[in-house]
Order: sequence, then C-alpha cells, then structure tokens
Amino acid sequence: MASKFSFDEITNHLTLTGFVFPGSQIYGGLSNTWDYGPLGAELKRNIRDAWWKKFVQESPTNVGLDAAILMNPKVWEATGHVSTFNDPMVDCRACKSRYRADELIKKEFPNVDVDAMSFQEMDDFIANHDVKCPTCGQKNFTTIRKFNMMFKTHIGVTEDDSSVVYLRPETAQGVFMNFKNVARACRKKLPFGICNTGKSFRNEITPGNFTFRTREFDQCEMEFFCQPGTDLEWFEHWKKACLDFVESLGPKAENLRFRDHEKAELAFYSKATTDVEYDFPNLGWGEILGVADRTDYDLRRHQEYSHQDLTYSETYIDQNGKTQVKSYLPYVIEPSMGLDRLMLMVMVDAYDKEELEGGDSRVVMHIKPALAPYKVAVLPLQKKLVEQSDELLAKLSKEFMATTDVTGSIGKRYRRQDEIGTPYCVTVDFDTLTDHSVTVRDRDTMKQDRVAIDSLVDYLKAKIAA
Ligand code: ATP
Repeated sequence: MASKFSFDEITNHLTLTGFVFPGSQIYGGLSNTWDYGPLGAELKRNIRDAWWKKFVQESPTNVGLDAAILMNPKVWEATGHVSTFNDPMVDCRACKSRYRADELIKKEFPNVDVDAMSFQEMDDFIANHDVKCPTCGQKNFTTIRKFNMMFKTHIGVTEDDSSVVYLRPETAQGVFMNFKNVARACRKKLPFGICNTGKSFRNEITPGNFTFRTREFDQCEMEFFCQPGTDLEWFEHWKKACLDFVESLGPKAENLRFRDHEKAELAFYSKATTDVEYDFPNLGWGEILGVADRTDYDLRRHQEYSHQDLTYSETYIDQNGKTQVKSYLPYVIEPSMGLDRLMLMVMVDAYDKEELEGGDSRVVMHIKPALAPYKVAVLPLQKKLVEQSDELLAKLSKEFMATTDVTGSIGKRYRRQDEIGTPYCVTVDFDTLTDHSVTVRDRDTMKQDRVAIDSLVDYLKAKIAA
C-alpha cells in the first residue's frame, strides 16, 4: 500500500528540512526546477555510490565511464532522437493549457493502454471520447503536434545550423561511443557492461509531481554487451539485479512491482522491456527504472552513420582445429534508472509520523543508515560540554557525515535528527568526562546504549553496515 501520508505533506517536509529547495527561488523560481539542499545532496551521492558499488565495483564483468554531455549531433541523428524523440502535444483552445495527449487520456481513462497507441490513434481517441481539459473542463483541443524533447544549443561563437549541439537526453549514448575504446583499452571480452551516470536533459511538456518529472535529471545507466542469442538470459539476470538493487535501498516490497511492456508498446528494435514501478501516494504507480533488450540497434545505427567498424571480433577453433575469427555486433541489455526518482522513492517511503507515549508524536525519516545524509549527530547535554562534544565530532567526521546541535532540550534535538533521518545520536554528558563513554540513541527503536568512546567508531560502523 502506498504511504498513508499525502504526497504534499511529504514534499513539504522535504523542502522545510533541506532535502530539496525550489530552484532560483529569490527570482520567483523557474518552473519545475529543484535544487538539492545539504541533505538531498548527501542522499543523492549515497544512492549514486550504492548504484556504482553494485553495478561496477561488485560486478566481475562491468566497468565505469564518465562521458561528456555534449556530443557530436550525428549521434542523435543515428539514434533517431532528432527525428522521433517526440512527445504528443495538445493545447486546449479555450484556456490555452498545454498537455501531453497520452497523459490526458490516462487521466480520464486509466484502463486504456495508451502506451501502445500511435499519435494518430490518440488523436482519434480524444476526438471520439469524453476527454475534457482538466483546467477549464471544455472539450476543445487542437490536434496532436509532435514536440521534440531535446534541448538545442550552439557550440562556439557562431549561432548557425552548423554549430547546433544537443544536451544529451540520455547518458547511454556516451557508452556506445566508447564501446570499442573500452574493449580495446581494458581488453574486455564479452559479455561486459559499461556504466555511466550523470545529467540528462529533456524538454518535457508537462514536468511536475515534485522531482518525479523534471527537465534536468540524473540517470544511472548501464549498457551490457553480450553475444546475440544470450540476450534474453541476460535480460532476466539484470531485471532481477535491478529489483534487488531497488529493494536494497529500503522501500517496502509491497510498493514495488515489475511492469512488462506489451508487444505493441515495445520500441521496434526492442525484444523485451520491463519497468520497475513504485506506488507513490496520490500519484499511483510511477516508473523508477526500465530494463530493455535493445538488440544491436544502437551499435548498428552508429556503424551505419559513422562508417566505422563497431563489430566485436572473437577467435575460435573450428572443426579442423584451425583458428578462425568471427565478427559481429553484440546485443545490448540496458538497465536505465532515474537517480532523482530513486531518491524520491526513498524519501517518500521513509517518511513516517509516530505517536509516542505521553501523547507526544514525532516525524521520522526511516532512511536506511547507509544512505542517510548524516550518520550521526553529536549532542552535548549542556553548553558546558561543547568543547568535548566538538572534539568527538571532529573524530567522527573523519569516518562519517556527522553533525551537531547545541540548542534546545535533548528531546527536541533528538526529534530534529529524527526528522532528517539521522540514525544515531551520540550524547556527551558529565559522566563522559570520567567514564569516557557516551550514550548512543537509535533513531528507529529510540533505545539507548552506553558505549566507550574508544570503540564508538567500530560500534557505529557495524550498525550502519548491518
Ligand atoms: P517516462 O515514461 O516517465 O517519461 P521514459 O520511459 O521516457 O520515462 P526512459 O527514457 O526509459 O524514461 O529513461 C530511463 C529513466 O530515466 C526512467 O525510468 C526515469 O527514472 C528517468 N527519467 C526519464 N525522464 C525523466 C524526467 N523527465 N525526470 C526525471 N527522471 C526521468
């Protein structure tokens, strides 16, 4: 079941506490742009690192890459993005509101499989069904126009057609550009994966739902190159690995599901595609990531457009004992995740409000300790103990993201740390001066342990890793 708290309540909490701020706020903002505050920046880094650890560090086959955002525009001609990376845009003639036709249909007819429709079929559907403008309630739409979602800019000083470049709409193509480089430089043999993470840009018609759909977002993508014929096996392998990874970030299992794409919904080059979706409060199921069997589509297109040989060669011994070479274009499995959506899922799922004994209550973010922005807060019981507390903070800061808070009662300070998901609070009290121990309070259980300062780092490390 989706969180019992409303999406608005949770996102308000996130902006109030410093996870997310509206972009360019002092100038009245810029629609649907967001900045991650000190807490969001930490969480984002931790989730990206967890992805890198799982898909690069712990993988016997994969390597990482950090590819450029600006690429030769021929890349996007080859992939089809220049001609077909379009959204179906309709305007309400009455109130001038602008919509994506597929979203408009989904809103009124949630059971219609709109993902399988062509733009023409969407046009016909809107004309022949009771689809009304959500803003003014009228039924007076333009026909669908194709809207290319790539941001265009110019490179260098002249602004003409020869200097056009695009901000990448996905991180994946940087990997295809470097398939041969990586295979050669790192002497990689199939199967192997190349992982790339960073900003992507899409001029979405209807961004919204907080950070769920924005025009600038981070992706974590992998292209896994394998022998044709082994692709569906690898597809299943990475599908499972993706779900395992998302589960490892802590959301409740009941809020996650696979959604396999029907044949009609598949891109023409794809043999299979599955999304992992999360059940957001008020919004319903939303895509967090997609896993696709892209066959040899991208390499084939780049080979055609670049006139470079992108085949992979492997030697084998034939029936007569002779060494032979065969060359072919590998097939590719692509798990593609939105880092901002992973974050939103983690933050939404972690939010909780609990009634406590004595009629008190608390807001608490049950973020997994390993992902939490701050791992530990060091709190001096009284102002007189700030020096000792700061000394301990300096020691812990060498190991973890640590913070402190010296104002208000200790109870209030615990609540403030609960609200931002800090899993452990360490209190320095007067006994600390003699017994060289501190009280460690656990965010989730609220239980307290007395721990010697000498063993505190190991104690916390073990807890965080558990
Ligand atoms: P959607 O159907 O939600 O537009 P998509 O199927 O076009 O997404 P992909 O092209 O498969 O998305 O991109 C891979 C991942 O990138 C998505 O699963 C999602 O997590 C993320 N993503 C895509 N578009 C956006 C966006 N506008 N804002 C934030 N994340 C995005």
